[in-house]
Amino acid sequence: MCGIVGYIGKRQAAPILIEGLHRLEYRGYDSAGIAVGNKGRLKVAKRKGRVRELEALEPQKFRGVQGIAHTRWATHGEPSDLNAHPHSDTSGRYAVVHNGIVENAAALKAQLGQRGVVFRSETDTEVLAHLIALLDDGSPLETVVAEALRRVVGAYGLAVIDAERPDTLVVARNGSPIVLGIGDKEMFFASDPAALVRHTASVVHLDDGEIATVRADGYETRTLDGAATIKTPSTIPWKDEAFDKGQFTHFMRKEIGEQADAVRRTLSGRLDTRFHTTHLGGIELEARDLLDIRRVKILGCGAAYLSGRVGAHLIEQLARIPADAEPASEFRYRNAVIERDTLYIAVSQSGETFDTLAAVQEIKRKGGRIMGVVNVVGSTIARECGRGVYLHAGPEVAVVSTKTFTCTAVALALLAIHLGRLRDLSVANGARLVAALQALPDRIAGILEREPEIAKLAGRFQGVEHAFYVGRAAGHAIASEGALKLKEISYLHAEAYPASELKHGPLALIEPGTPTVIVLPRDDLYSKSLSTVEEIRARGGPVIAITHPGERPAVDGLFEVPALEPELDPLLLNIPLQLLAYHVALQRGTDIDQPRNLAKSVTVE
Ligand code: GLU
Repeated sequence: MCGIVGYIGKRQAAPILIEGLHRLEYRGYDSAGIAVGNKGRLKVAKRKGRVRELEALEPQKFRGVQGIAHTRWATHGEPSDLNAHPHSDTSGRYAVVHNGIVENAAALKAQLGQRGVVFRSETDTEVLAHLIALLDDGSPLETVVAEALRRVVGAYGLAVIDAERPDTLVVARNGSPIVLGIGDKEMFFASDPAALVRHTASVVHLDDGEIATVRADGYETRTLDGAATIKTPSTIPWKDEAFDKGQFTHFMRKEIGEQADAVRRTLSGRLDTRFHTTHLGGIELEARDLLDIRRVKILGCGAAYLSGRVGAHLIEQLARIPADAEPASEFRYRNAVIERDTLYIAVSQSGETFDTLAAVQEIKRKGGRIMGVVNVVGSTIARECGRGVYLHAGPEVAVVSTKTFTCTAVALALLAIHLGRLRDLSVANGARLVAALQALPDRIAGILEREPEIAKLAGRFQGVEHAFYVGRAAGHAIASEGALKLKEISYLHAEAYPASELKHGPLALIEPGTPTVIVLPRDDLYSKSLSTVEEIRARGGPVIAITHPGERPAVDGLFEVPALEPELDPLLLNIPLQLLAYHVALQRGTDIDQPRNLAKSVTVE
């Protein structure tokens, strides 16, 4: 979702900015633009559509060592050339790129209109450029921008360029990320470290309410009130190559294939084979504190929420602590009761998901105990929580989550075992589960090798408009994730139901053209689930089972996943469903890595 890149230094800015925009493309956007300052003038190019369409205007040839660029995800005004960022004031001296929403844009527009300002776009962002121009009294640019921002209500990550201040750029953040990248006599910034890794690993994350002056030789940060803030640079752990597709046609396929290694990294250093438990340094809660926990509540959005459901099930089963997961987007607004003996867990791949962050802030405000399960090191949710578990899954570029879904569930399994071994989970069960986790990466690799079998099953979705995904307990969370993947990338209507609920409603929709995918582990509920299969088939509905080896159930298509340990089997049953969604989408020829209407990290409400 929306992106910002900036550069100031000794090199030509335009090629660096365009390359940075390409790095942000994975997040989803609808238009792109760039502004470069040179000899007291700004050159601006912007266009609806892809970055390569912007390149057709040849902004790469703009001369100048100071510039900002943007990929827009429209909130105010349709995607169009005029509404694309950067937005300039009337004279064209200043330009602004902005992620987020200026909530009082209508009021500010009216005020500016009275002073004769004529607006050229329908965006909320344009008011910022005019405000800055009107308020500029020759003070340093950051003072002027801070003055403008004091009049703004809303969320932003933004960057400002002034053609007449060639040695300065200004960035500010309130609710939408900005990261500074420190180079050698040059500085970069972006809304996502993905745009920086090629140039530097040394970064500084702005906090909400901070504004920074960025010059070739360094940066200064302050609050909007002008008080200096002190920042310590951190190091991005990711290599540039991680952002390349390599031999794969899609990032999604590459990331599905990376899961064995990603899970290995999530597990690394965290298995304790002496006490048959797990070790999670980052949760920073003493055993004594953890014993006080009476309930666990996991919050996330989309696939993060669904992996939270798998985790909640594991925590409840292994630690015998009541646990559930809830969409953070709902939780944040329902005036939830925050309990002192509940452990709240915020799950987010990017660590920037707006709704999840808001839920974290609400919990903190009410005195709740919160930890994060996050992939991006140093991200806002990670910093806001102050404690938690990093996935170390490596960058996830495809809009849909695959490896981070799995790694989140693994991280929550580690926590479940940890909490369990503090309570009633026996040494023998601890040992059994730790051994199973050790075996997990190889088992995942084994499933991935059998991709052609799943490609064949995907053929059953030809001509299909609707599909059901069913399962029970953790299997229902896995079925929900399978259905979500199918919806997201193939645009097929897929609905997930607890297998037990089918006869209470959706069975009415079963017919020969509606396949049902059932997550069918050989667990305590196996025979009950077989009855569900019978009920569906009796109504002419084809059934595809993701199950374990053994006596074959009577179904229309089947993929067998070797069983590991019942508690952890859901994680393995998910892998074929990822591949199934991928192959159905491949056959339907959709844009797998950037599905329509979706964005990678949802940083607006
Ligand atoms: N609200 C702004 C617009 O619609 C910024 C959107 C974005 O975050 O890209 O132009």
